[in-house]
Amino acid sequence: MRRNTLLLGRIAGVRTFVHWSLGVTLALLTWLLAESTLPNRLPQATTSQTWSAGIFAASAFVLSLLAHELAHSIVAVRMGVRVDRVTLWMLGGMSELRDEPADPRLDLAIAVAGPLTSLAIGISSLTTAFAIEPFAPEIVTVTVAWLGTTNVVLALFNALPGAPLDGGRILRAWLWRRSGDRLHAAATAARSGRNIGAAMILLGMAEALTLGSAGGLWLTLLGWFIVGSANRELPTATSTGEALRFTHRVDSQHRSKE
Ligand SMILES: [Zn+2]
Repeated sequence: MRRNTLLLGRIAGVRTFVHWSLGVTLALLTWLLAESTLPNRLPQATTSQTWSAGIFAASAFVLSLLAHELAHSIVAVRMGVRVDRVTLWMLGGMSELRDEPADPRLDLAIAVAGPLTSLAIGISSLTTAFAIEPFAPEIVTVTVAWLGTTNVVLALFNALPGAPLDGGRILRAWLWRRSGDRLHAAATAARSGRNIGAAMILLGMAEALTLGSAGGLWLTLLGWFIVGSANRELPTATSTGEALRFTHRVDSQHRSKE
């Protein structure tokens, strides 16, 4: 993932990268909106209208993904946790932290910042769509409402309780606080993420086979990615502590030399 990325710049002090695969998502989403979602709701709209609205909505959605990721990173930085980078790619965004949060409260604060941001964008877009409905062209209202609904769905989806989803980090923080055992909490959250990912693969395949829908394939791909990430988190759940202790030792050696 670190290869083939382009540095967008430092946003709010966080190095932000874009992977080439984000272009695939942007193109697919624009095409889906312009050729299917918008014409289905507004049969009277012209092709140039649905394509302009599609480009706007898909770009605004990518910006709201970016806001979601930056929210995680900004909260982390504010709380003294170093952030390596934010990367946007085909299946969404990733915030990579250089340090593990030192206590469950920090872990929770960093995790909830993303879904809360998506929820806030979702609710404010839906409110705007409702407010402008009496006087704005119908295609504008429908596009803004789509952006709102999609962000609310994004917030709810990310709140599913399994790592690497945000809900999995929330679960980890909660279990960590209850038991005091971070590694055990992380392993439970990763196992839950693996089950959620497997369920998504099955659901997605069933949807693709019965309805022949592209959404089903997307869900399968997302589920497959979640299972893979959860599996990678399981063994490291026992080794992260050691790796971190090692880094801290290196850091303190550097400091003592200065
Ligand atoms: Zn998130």
